[in-house]
Order: sequence, then structure tokens, then C-alpha cells
Amino acid sequence: MFKAVLIEKDDAGYRATLTDVDDARLPEGDVTVRVAYSTLNYKDGLAITGKGPVVRKFPMVPGIDLVGTVEETSNAAHKVGDTVVLNGWGVGEGHWGGLAQKARVNAEWLVPLPAAFSPKQAMAIGTAGYTAMLCVMRLEQLGVTPAHGEVLVTGANGGVGSVAVALLARLGYRVVASTGRPNEVEYLKALGAAEIVDRAQFSTSGKPLTKERWAGAVDTVGSHTLANVCAGMKYRGVVAACGLAQGMDFPATVAPFILRGVTLAGIDSVYCPREERIEAWQRLARDLDPQHLDLISHEVGLSDVIRLAGELLAGQVRGRLIVNVDH
Ligand code: NDP
Repeated sequence: MFKAVLIEKDDAGYRATLTDVDDARLPEGDVTVRVAYSTLNYKDGLAITGKGPVVRKFPMVPGIDLVGTVEETSNAAHKVGDTVVLNGWGVGEGHWGGLAQKARVNAEWLVPLPAAFSPKQAMAIGTAGYTAMLCVMRLEQLGVTPAHGEVLVTGANGGVGSVAVALLARLGYRVVASTGRPNEVEYLKALGAAEIVDRAQFSTSGKPLTKERWAGAVDTVGSHTLANVCAGMKYRGVVAACGLAQGMDFPATVAPFILRGVTLAGIDSVYCPREERIEAWQRLARDLDPQHLDLISHEVGLSDVIRLAGELLAGQVRGRLIVNVDH
């Protein structure tokens, strides 16, 4: 038996409970992992509370991230005892995920843990940090350098936003952090933000074009915020869009794209090819100051997760939550 958060949906309704589960119920897969840590992401919050249509099969163990040790394997790509990381691939949505003491998954979903990180640090990064890295890599691929000007990060106190601020600052960009929590100025400055702006200026319907300010942007918020960010980009600026914390809609005009040559680059971490994931984890090992991980994250237990899911969706959680599945 192992402990897991289990989401069920039946005549009794939609509910998540902390349950003891028999090993025999583990899903198909060629590698069994003894999970050490998982995380709580925005998407896990939607899955646990049922506030978003994340879960595609019931019962489901949520948790889009995990790190742990290979316990059994029928695939030569991994050995018993290897420490491995998993982000995305639909785990916690269509296949049982990491918010449990055990997981059985497909070998090709697993990435070796880079030597630079402890298992706990890998989960301080998690999908949010790895997505932030993918955003930064896309800005670089599309030619945004620190010499081009300021980079805006929206949802800066969130998991993706916090890591994006830290990475971009370390790489020499002047980072402007947009947040609805001005009381967290010191935290964002400690991560390297040069300036903090109030997210309210981006939250409602704006003009098709505004003063050219941003050379690059990482947007975790979507909706009016993304539209206003696009409107304020410099000529040939690049926006890496990865989130929908304000909404899934995109009430914008084409003006920034056809008059300023702005690029809107979409970032998906879930089905990102394995080679790019490995590169992103190697870049994180190089470009993220490990000291920032303590600032960005804090540890909670598996028994806290159901309560915290609601707080996360309400925007009351700062940075990243690491889940110790043995507490
Ligand atoms: P968090 O909940 O940690 O952070 C989201 C942040 O967005 C909040 O901290 C808050 O920042 C801001 N925010 C929340 N509500 C609003 C609102 N109504 N208007 C404006 N800003 C708001 O989530 P994550 O960082 O884990 O994820 C961020 C987004 O990215 C989510 O939508 C998530 O689904 C998505 N995501 C996408 C991935 C992909 O592969 N494309 C992978 C990972 C995440 P502040 O308090 O600073 O204002």
C-alpha cells in the first residue's frame, strides 16, 4: 500500500481525498518510481478542486511533477536506484501522477536528475521552473538579448513568474516584474527584479498599441494582460506566452504583429520533446542560482495539499510548493 491523493467523480460528486492505495492499482508503465517529492502547480489546483477540466480519467492521482528513485524497471534506459524527474506528459491528467508515494510511468517520460540539483531542489523548480526556462530559451532563440532592452514578467509572484525573474536577471536582462502583490517587492527584488509594476495597469481592456517599452516578455496571465503586453512591445519584440491565470481569452488586435513585427511565441511544457527538456534542465543547472530556490519554494506535506489547492487558485501562494509525499 502507498499513500496518494485520489480524485474521484461519481454519483457522490467530485472529491479529492488522501487515501491508502494498493500497489496492484498502479497504472500500466515500464518503470515504477518511489516518489520522494512532488509539487503543487496551478494545474494541480484546478484538478484537485475540480475548478478546471484537467482530469480526463477517474479515479486519478494528481501531480504533474515528480522526482524519485527507480524501484522496478523493464526498460534498459533506466536502472534500479536511478534518480529521475518527470514533468508533464499528461501525468496527473490522464495518467496517475506524482502526488503519491509511488508512480508507474513510461520510461521515455523520465529525465535523469542533473547532478547540480538535489531531489528537493528539482521540485523547487518543477514544471513551473522548467516552463520558465523554456520561455527564456524561446526569447533567446528569437533574438532577444539584454542589449535590446527591458523584459517584462507577468504573474511575477507565481511559480513560473518567480523563476523567470530569477533566470532573466542572472542572464543580465533588466527585468520588470508585474504583480498584484506590492507587499512582495522585497522578494521580487531579491530574485533580481529591477522594477516592480502594478498588474492593474494590464488587467483591463486597453489600446491596440501603447508606448513601445518591452524588448521581451514572459506572460503567465493571458487575457487582457497578454493583449496589453503585446500592445506595449518594442519593434520586433518577442512575447513568450505560457499561462492563463487571468483567463484563457485573448482580447487583442493584430496591430502589434503587423505594425511592429512583434512575435507571440506559445510555450507548452507538457508535450515538449525530450531533447529540449534535457537541454532546459541543463540550462537550469547553469543559469539558476540555487540559493534562489530556497527563497522561491517551501516544503509542505501530502496531507496539506488538498487544503492548499484552493489557496493556490486564489493567488494566495507565493512561489513554489514542494510536496514531501512522506509527510
Ligand atoms: P501560480 O498560481 O503560482 O502563479 C500565477 C500568478 O498569476 C499569481 O501568483 C499571480 O501573480 C498572477 N495572477 C493570478 N490571478 C491573476 C489575475 N486574475 N490577473 C492577473 N494576474 C493573476 O501559477 P504558476 O506560476 O504555476 O502558473 C502560471 C500560469 O502558467 C498558469 O496559468 C498555469 O496554468 C500556466 N502554466 C503553463 C504551462 C505550459 O506548459 N504552458 C506550464 C506551467 C504553468 P501576482 O500575485 O504576482 O500578481
